[in-house]
Amino acid sequence: MDYLEYKIGVPRLILIIGDITKQVTYAIVNAANNELAPGGGVSGAIHRVAGPLLWEECKKLGGCLTGEAKLTKGYNLPAKFVIHTVGPVYSGKPKDKVNLANAYRNSLELALDHNIKSVSFPSISTGIYGYPVKEASEIAISTIIEFLEEYPKIERVRMVLHNMEDFTVYVSTARGMLIKKGLLKPETLV
Ligand code: ADP
Repeated sequence: MDYLEYKIGVPRLILIIGDITKQVTYAIVNAANNELAPGGGVSGAIHRVAGPLLWEECKKLGGCLTGEAKLTKGYNLPAKFVIHTVGPVYSGKPKDKVNLANAYRNSLELALDHNIKSVSFPSISTGIYGYPVKEASEIAISTIIEFLEEYPKIERVRMVLHNMEDFTVYVSTARGMLIKKGLLKPETLV
């Protein structure tokens, strides 16, 4: 199984194994760096597929602070927009949690401000930035659920995990949180 969908009221939270650059949502989120430069990982992949005009637009934005988010067009990507957000480099300090939650929340706020109804996220900070996946999944999922409960105008949020191992961690976190909130019955299989 590589796809799960949960209802958060009317909106859906989707967990999927895949490639962020292939997602057909209004916006995809880039796990960017402070310079908004192409770099490696998700960011390198997004810039490669979007083409050089994305970097031309990014250059004009004056970078992005950790936890904040900026919007560009998607150019050659299937997504119309890219939301660039910068997660924390993992340090083990309490500020990591705040910065990671801010990265998710500010990305969703930017989507809301631009009437973007579907967003795909990668697992921010868990690659080159070294954030442990279990801890990061708890922040990602709880921030997304809280946001969708408050702002159901966003119809779909996809968490796009790059491999089965990360997918399994995110599924277990999502199930645990949704059961706790009474949004999922413990006996439900998916
Ligand atoms: P960060 O610098 O924020 O840690 P990375 O881009 O290094 O971001 O990685 C974030 C996560 O995204 C990692 O789990 C990595 O395996 C995953 N990843 C890398 N490429 C892709 C892709 N094309 N689609 C989805 N996830 C990806």
